Amino acid sequence: MRHIVVIGNGMVGYKFCEKLRKLADPTQVAITVFGEECRPAYDRVHLSEYFSDQNADKLTLAPARWYEEQNIQLHTGELIAWIDRRNKTVETHRGKTLSYDQLVIATGSSAFVPPIPGTDKRGVFVYRTIEDLEAIIAYGKKMRSAAVLGGGLLGLEAAKAMVDMGLETHVVEFASRLMPRQLDEVGARTLQTRIEELGIQVHLNKNTQAISGNGKLDALRFADESNLPVDMLVISAGIRPRDELGRSARLDIGPRGGIVVNDAMQTSDPAIYAIGEVALHQDIIYGLVAPGYDMAEVAARHLVGDIEKNFSGDDMSTKLKLMGVDVASFGDAFGAKSEHNAIVFEDKAKGVYKRINISADGKRLLGGMLVGDAEAYNMLLQTMQNGMALPPNPEDLILGSRGGETSGAGLDSLPDEAQICSCEAVTKGMICEAVLTGEAQSVKEIKACTKAGTGCGGCMPMVSDLFDLAQAKMGKRVRKTLCEHFNYTRQELLDIIQVKEIKSYDTLLNEYGTGDGCEVCKPAVASILASLWNELVTQQDTIQDTNDRFLANIQRGGTYSVVPRIPGGEITPDKLIVIGQVAKKYDLYTKITGGQRIDLFGAHLHQLPDIWEELIAAGFESGHAYGKSLRTVKSCVGSAWCRYGLHDSVSFAIEVEDRYKGLRSPHKLKGAVSGCARECAEAQSKDFGIIATDKGWNLYVCGNGGIKPQHALLLAQDVDKETCIKYIDRFLMFYIKTAETLTRTAPWLNKLEGGIDYLRDVVVNDCLGIGEQLEQEMQRTLAVYRCEWKEVVNNPELRAKFTHFINSEATDPAVQFDEMRGQKVPAKW
Ligand SMILES: Cc1cc2nc3c(=O)[nH]c(=O)nc-3n(C[C@H](O)[C@H](O)[C@H](O)COP(=O)(O)OP(=O)(O)OC[C@H]3O[C@@H](n4cnc5c(N)ncnc54)[C@H](O)[C@@H]3O)c2cc1C
Ligand code: SF4
Repeated sequence: MRHIVVIGNGMVGYKFCEKLRKLADPTQVAITVFGEECRPAYDRVHLSEYFSDQNADKLTLAPARWYEEQNIQLHTGELIAWIDRRNKTVETHRGKTLSYDQLVIATGSSAFVPPIPGTDKRGVFVYRTIEDLEAIIAYGKKMRSAAVLGGGLLGLEAAKAMVDMGLETHVVEFASRLMPRQLDEVGARTLQTRIEELGIQVHLNKNTQAISGNGKLDALRFADESNLPVDMLVISAGIRPRDELGRSARLDIGPRGGIVVNDAMQTSDPAIYAIGEVALHQDIIYGLVAPGYDMAEVAARHLVGDIEKNFSGDDMSTKLKLMGVDVASFGDAFGAKSEHNAIVFEDKAKGVYKRINISADGKRLLGGMLVGDAEAYNMLLQTMQNGMALPPNPEDLILGSRGGETSGAGLDSLPDEAQICSCEAVTKGMICEAVLTGEAQSVKEIKACTKAGTGCGGCMPMVSDLFDLAQAKMGKRVRKTLCEHFNYTRQELLDIIQVKEIKSYDTLLNEYGTGDGCEVCKPAVASILASLWNELVTQQDTIQDTNDRFLANIQRGGTYSVVPRIPGGEITPDKLIVIGQVAKKYDLYTKITGGQRIDLFGAHLHQLPDIWEELIAAGFESGHAYGKSLRTVKSCVGSAWCRYGLHDSVSFAIEVEDRYKGLRSPHKLKGAVSGCARECAEAQSKDFGIIATDKGWNLYVCGNGGIKPQHALLLAQDVDKETCIKYIDRFLMFYIKTAETLTRTAPWLNKLEGGIDYLRDVVVNDCLGIGEQLEQEMQRTLAVYRCEWKEVVNNPELRAKFTHFINSEATDPAVQFDEMRGQKVPAKW
């Protein structure tokens, strides 16, 4: 019987064991694995999840029991120190010797630590293993600030983890932009804005020369002679293949490291294979798991005599895994490899940048990058990988992805061989077949029987869409379940929460879900809870995003905005004076906004409760500028002052804004009231807009600005005020109950079968007989409204959350300002 020894029990080493055991049973091949780490292989791709629960078991790819069941000898905590090629043996660090017939080196890589003086000081960490994270967590608990060296994919992931630990966080990048390998200038600039919105301060063009401190790090020193004082440092400056065994065994090594392999994954010694991040194939080290899994498959097959499958290289398409920051790059992202035409879309206000590179003949997609909205990523990747013909207007591929419209080519047009999950090499055909044969009756079952989505997880949205597609083909009603943790649609969950009076995410997950939840279900449930119960969002702060957590929008440079409600845009001179006094006292930048109110920018986190205390004492309330909720109801001056005015638009706007203030919804809501058809309040661009007529009021709904502006449509004509409000109650509650999270009213209407006519039937003609119920639900929600900021100001426990530094009132020293037109603005980094 042959004996195959595997060195390294990381992600790829484990995958190799799994694949080889499928191809050869224990009577044919004995397998022994040595892993240096003290536990069986775990999911390094999702390592950052360890921060939230510190549960290593959840990351384990297969428990020790699995190796026993598979007749695989696993030695954890045991390092191979030497390979004796002549005698075909390996020696462990304990001096144990074992012979092999064939050897597989899967030793991965280690974090590259640049040769900067001081990296050995206390407070300097790398980000690669569970033990690294344990050390970071323990150290970070006592610290105020952290820097991450490296603004690449992993560096940004590490930086987000530092923010979540409550640390003031800096990213230091040598290059002139973030993610320089994946993004061009504009893409990187857009990403930087997004990253800064998370409260991370970005320092570009910084050549770190030394790490200073007496035994313990206290600052980074840069070549331009500037300093960055920080308490800890996480180095994420790239990877170095762990090729030391290959070097000492005199295998061929690349000039910049890595064990050289051929297309069969064999090293310069045909009895020794190398796979994963240690393998150098055609001068490339792949720092991603999917190519590693592919290599594992090729090596396993070759070892059982199947020489058909070769490793021919892989592309480096990647998607960043940061909640709230969509970034992806795929294929020839810079268009550097062949002649091409680039199609570019940029929306600076929204922080969205998309670029696709099209072949010179206009027929093929070569690659691209997406920042701020990466919804189209999987479909674009498939279009490129399968060489699919482009639609007549290829720009639709990036312009049509929001708002529920298809982006040119649909899933149905993908060939059966299209590889949906590259980590596990699962094709569209395999997924559809699992559904069509009844083997998989849910997305979770697709994962279990095909393994799709069990690697990096990036393909899950597409797996879920394919499940729906196959279900629809079988004539089954498609239920768009929220995510793998809840086998319910958003609407079903809303009904459950309402009927069972569930008030927290944890209760819902315990009683109706599985697992630990994810970035899809947590904010979606938070939004439902807020919409139904109108309770303080601060009670759900662990599942909210930063803006909701601190009841303020975080701005460039890491400060926050204060936006008091000014219903209908009407404000007394006394209140204006208070705003001026507060702005002066706390040195805030002031601006009159398009929503007819005054925003105050540049507040430090710990100042927020004091500022709000003064504003509330003067009669102001939260303006909810941070929430997915009602923003403003804009109004023109109306009949009170205007010669053309038919009715008092200001009074009506105030009444409506006061009615719906604090109402949480799937997305933000804006309203407006105009006093006549001249439409000075631009009501037809709002989610609900009211325009005075000589017989009453016209009600328009589902108008949106943003990336794809859309005019509102007439819902009801010449109605009186009470009827108008009744219809808005019904319309908003129907939208809240049926729209997917983060879908504004315009795309929601576009997807609604029957469109505005159906909506009118529901709201005005009450065709479903739910009109009264919708009104009552709205009434119940509105009745429990409380100003969130008032609650915080009066509650010492909630107030205490608004500090940069635990146990300290100190201002974040890294926040710097410049002056512009007599007011402060964030300093340029
Ligand atoms: C935080 C983080 C996030 C990531 N996110 C993504 C992502 O989103 N997408 C993606 O595709 N990839 C991602 N990656 C990269 C991915 O994890 C790696 O590509 C993958 O783990 C490589 O697997 P490997 O088995 O080659 O190496 P490793 O997983 O590093 O495993 C190698 C193992 O071998 C052991 N070893 C080394 N030398 C010896 C020896 N002499 N004797 C015994 N054992 C030894 C090591 O201790 C280690 O346990 C991420 C990595 C990190 C750290
Ligand atoms: S919309 Fe009509 S009423 Fe209102 S300000 Fe303009 S002209 Fe006057």
